[in-house]
Amino acid sequence: MSVSSANNSSDWIDVSLTIHTGMAHWPDNPGIKIEPSLCLAHGDVCNVSKLTLGSHTGTHVDGLNHFIKGGLGIDKMPLDATIGKARVIGIEDTESIKVAEIAPHNLQAGDRVLFKTVNSERCYQQDDFVEDFVYISTEAAEYLAERQVRTVGVDYLSVGGYQGNVVEVHHALLGSGIWVIEGLNLSAIAPGEYELICLPIKIQDGDAGLARAILKPL
Ligand SMILES: [Zn+2]
Repeated sequence: MSVSSANNSSDWIDVSLTIHTGMAHWPDNPGIKIEPSLCLAHGDVCNVSKLTLGSHTGTHVDGLNHFIKGGLGIDKMPLDATIGKARVIGIEDTESIKVAEIAPHNLQAGDRVLFKTVNSERCYQQDDFVEDFVYISTEAAEYLAERQVRTVGVDYLSVGGYQGNVVEVHHALLGSGIWVIEGLNLSAIAPGEYELICLPIKIQDGDAGLARAILKPL
């Protein structure tokens, strides 16, 4: 059964991760725990959960202030950064997203681009953090900044590589005002043109916002 039919909505495809206790997170970020605070089964009048998690849990959008002092928080993100036409680009490289593979796509200023790598099939099958996920090379991040794309989405928990170029890539993108979506699951998505809706929750001066992200083929 497809995700869309499971949700009983014909055209939209859910590309968000399901938040659950024990799910993978960046190693030095808080672990994820969802536990009952009030509980019908224990005689309370309703169910209410207590959530323990980091702001960069699962599918989320980074605030520019995640790596940039004085950058816009997630509550200041223009809504059209993550609502509108988006291009899903398939990446064959199993190490990193490089300029050579994205240059032929002729990205333009204002484009929203989501990179589908092997991560989508490979990294979400387990709750352990995958260290060798496909990330954006520093050169490719600088290229995306030069092209003045609007929004960049990736299919694992960081645009930069683990113990690699996390700082450089975030600085290149967020420092250029590019909005970054992390933790997309694009396994059900073929490369092409889509309508994107991705709305991060509104945390005051938030360095990120957890988000539901959905795509509809155009
Ligand atoms: Zn993040």
